[in-house]
Amino acid sequence: MNTDSFALRHIGPRRSDLPEMLKTVGVETMEQLIFETIPDNIRLDNPLLLDPAISEHEFAAHITALSNKNKVYRSFIGLGYNQAITPAVIQRNILENPGWYTAYTPYQAEIAQGRLEALLNYQTMITDLTGMELANASLLDEATAAAEAMALLFSVRSRAQKKEGVHKFFVSEEILPQTLSLLQTRSTPIGIELVVGKHEDFDFSSEYFGAILQYPGVSGKVYDYAAFVEKANAAEIKVAVAADILSLVKLRAPGEFGVDVVVGTTQRFGIPLGYGGPHAAYFATKEAYKRSIPGRIIGVTKDTDGKRALRMALQTREQHIKRDKATSNICTAQVLLAVMAGMYGVYHGPEGLKNIANKVHNTAATVADALEKLGLYQVNESYFDTIQIKADAAKVAAVAQEMEINFHYPDAETVAISIHEATTLQDVNDIISAFAKAYSKETITVTEIAEGNAIPEAVARETSFLTLPVFNTYHSETELMRYIKKLERKDLSLNHSMISLGSCTMKLNAASEMLPLSDPQWGNMHPFAPLDQAEGYQTMLKKLEDQLTEITGFAGTSLQPNSGAQGEYAGLMVIRAYHESRGDSHRNICLIPSSAHGTNPASAVMAGMKVVVTKALENGNIDVDDLREKAEKHKDNLAALMITYPSTHGVYESAVKEITQLIHDNGGQVYMDGANMNAQVALTNPGAIGADVCHLNLHKTFAIPHGGGGPGVGPICVAKQLVPFLPSNPVIITGGDKAITAISAAPWGSALACLISYAYITMLGEPGLRHSTEYAILNANYIKERLDGAYQCLYVGERGRAAHEMIIDCRPFKAKGIEVTDIAKRLMDYGFHAPTVSFPVAGTIMIEPTESESREELDRFCDAMLSIRKEIETATADEPNHIMKNAPHTLAMLTADTWDFTYSREQAAYPLSYVAENKFWPTVRRVDDAYGDRNLICTCAPIEEYMEA
Ligand SMILES: *Cc1c(COP(=O)(O)O)cnc(C)c1O
Repeated sequence: MNTDSFALRHIGPRRSDLPEMLKTVGVETMEQLIFETIPDNIRLDNPLLLDPAISEHEFAAHITALSNKNKVYRSFIGLGYNQAITPAVIQRNILENPGWYTAYTPYQAEIAQGRLEALLNYQTMITDLTGMELANASLLDEATAAAEAMALLFSVRSRAQKKEGVHKFFVSEEILPQTLSLLQTRSTPIGIELVVGKHEDFDFSSEYFGAILQYPGVSGKVYDYAAFVEKANAAEIKVAVAADILSLVKLRAPGEFGVDVVVGTTQRFGIPLGYGGPHAAYFATKEAYKRSIPGRIIGVTKDTDGKRALRMALQTREQHIKRDKATSNICTAQVLLAVMAGMYGVYHGPEGLKNIANKVHNTAATVADALEKLGLYQVNESYFDTIQIKADAAKVAAVAQEMEINFHYPDAETVAISIHEATTLQDVNDIISAFAKAYSKETITVTEIAEGNAIPEAVARETSFLTLPVFNTYHSETELMRYIKKLERKDLSLNHSMISLGSCTMKLNAASEMLPLSDPQWGNMHPFAPLDQAEGYQTMLKKLEDQLTEITGFAGTSLQPNSGAQGEYAGLMVIRAYHESRGDSHRNICLIPSSAHGTNPASAVMAGMKVVVTKALENGNIDVDDLREKAEKHKDNLAALMITYPSTHGVYESAVKEITQLIHDNGGQVYMDGANMNAQVALTNPGAIGADVCHLNLHKTFAIPHGGGGPGVGPICVAKQLVPFLPSNPVIITGGDKAITAISAAPWGSALACLISYAYITMLGEPGLRHSTEYAILNANYIKERLDGAYQCLYVGERGRAAHEMIIDCRPFKAKGIEVTDIAKRLMDYGFHAPTVSFPVAGTIMIEPTESESREELDRFCDAMLSIRKEIETATADEPNHIMKNAPHTLAMLTADTWDFTYSREQAAYPLSYVAENKFWPTVRRVDDAYGDRNLICTCAPIEEYMEA
């Protein structure tokens, strides 16, 4: 046995478990199980062509060598990305801590109060700094957040505006280039016309429904937008502002001059540049738009005992409920990064942030002053952190290159310099000397940072922020370390037990895969650094693209989308561009099975397509006759079919090739949702089933941790005819030769997180990936057989097998008064996170164990499920205090002086012997969702403050 093999560490069951597990499943060999599970006509004939697996130790050496190919120059490029200092206490206790990074989106609020509180802090910080009423708990990046703002303003047009078809959106030419590109991408399909210009020249005509401004502008200039917003409001034009979060410490909050939406990135609040991401974007708006806001919102509510509790608010806006009528397609966001940015606010507090913002501003002023003394002209009269020097760009660039410094060069006569938190006095002197050298002058040595005053009084901030206790308490490292631990203890993550969320693939996020993320050679690379400085990144990203292209059986890959939903949108936009290139721009019908994930219809609508829902059969499969009828009916306008494979019902449909052929015969392209790729890798692939494009959730199948609800990476892999249309970036050239405009802000999306998937594939190699898929299928079927007789598995394949996940029907228990939620909550008492609840079928749970779980853990989970099944037997429809109804049980309940229940404390909290050894205590009782939505509170203001309101 090769104990060096990473596969041995990644895959849970031991070789010695195999005979018993196969026996339980009722097969002789793994080959037999796979044969009985995956239809023959889609099995791969040949092994994937991947490099041989390497050990964890070899990978560490390899990735360090690669990191040293990155030339990490000092970057003063700005453009929405500024080097930041990650406080070590946050890096070590959050970024590098599986207690934080392995959690899922807080669907089970009772065991997620820690990250919910961290996100509430984040929302409070955003509303304070922007001066707005309501903020969400993150979007994917600033550019997509700006596009969401545009979409929101479009959707809240007045009745008259809608009737008159008002559809123009004004974009200030001071907007960041990647934001403009995103606005272009997102506006066209939904019928918005962009008009780019100077905000000073805007005519406020009634043809416009909205406008977006950048604050400070891309040039660095700080404008006073108050008059603009006033005039716009008078003309019924709503205004969004994209604002630099650190600048808001010193600048008047946009909320104070009446804007409707404020968006931006929180990257510079302690998050590594990472060659473009992942970083959390913020989105803040007025309470009036609470039903239209995109993404996740955390809100306050109460639990069964009336105690304060947190959970995700207003979920009825979201894609998983509203589908094609949803306000956006956001599912995975950037939770881990939002948690980190929020903690940065907690750690620094208002005084710390002021100190940082002042230092940045003063440093910029000091540089400007010195360069003026050198005889150079600084253009910006007002600025926060970015100055523009009139100088020969080529001359300066040559010297700067030599000195390993990056500036931004907007044109041949301008050099822009953006100062950031990490800029030192040495950097200041080096910047000055670069200019001095370029002009053969004696340099000026600066010995201290002077006071800057380039912020006009009219736009200077006068209001306070972060006044609440949480931002004024944890300022020593000991205090913050303990606060982070206190929150962490409230959350159930993969370092406690299996999280068998179906469709989410909660597998091991190996330490070896995560370690490189802490290396500044990867962390400090600016996304717009010249390509020749990023050889390490370029090599890694290209290899990952090639690996994914091979795994999917396609011809090309784009790593740009930074979530699965964003991948769906990207894939559909590529299909749209393909049809347009063939003169088929009328093709706009998208067929989507009724069982599809909510992001599918939401993405299709964003891509300007009309959703036609197709039926499912009794056995869960696609109704091929219905599909044929609809494909043929719409054959002149058919754009695409979106399918998930294996289906969201956990079945490999054998008709899939017939289905893809049918779509092609009617002129459509086939989009495969790759969320279930963990059931395919190295055994079959989207190419083999006849699809044309798929997205992959690298945060599911390819080991990027879920981070409590993000980051994600959602690359798209495409067949040959679609490669030319892969998305571009306006600053760094990438994508196909007929590339669509940007899908995400950064050229390679969340490049830093791609290291994890690269590590995963490189250390597993072909046999390791194949074995992972096989064991994922074995583990699922093992659970299925162990639960057989107690629970009904809703759908199986033709030979009676589940795929890598299965749906368990909980509807029969309704007769006993037991709902599927009761099972989910009772599992908490047993130390488990519930499987996926009520997706894709209401009243069911979907279990996906993944290959990483050991047989012992699978057994503990099955024991818990079987024990719960016995408890259900004791329930009656009219017993409100049944053990299942009271779940989860908290420590406060158990230790209370009174115990009024018909069952014992031990039964409540220690129902099986394994539980006592490793008890996890939910910190609140069942949360009341409806109460919180009726009384919406989305900041961490103390109770008294909103009780009065
Ligand atoms: C997770 C998932 C998605 C969405 O992916 P995100 O990264 O969360 O946007 C889409 N489809 C299916 C079937 C999924 O399970």
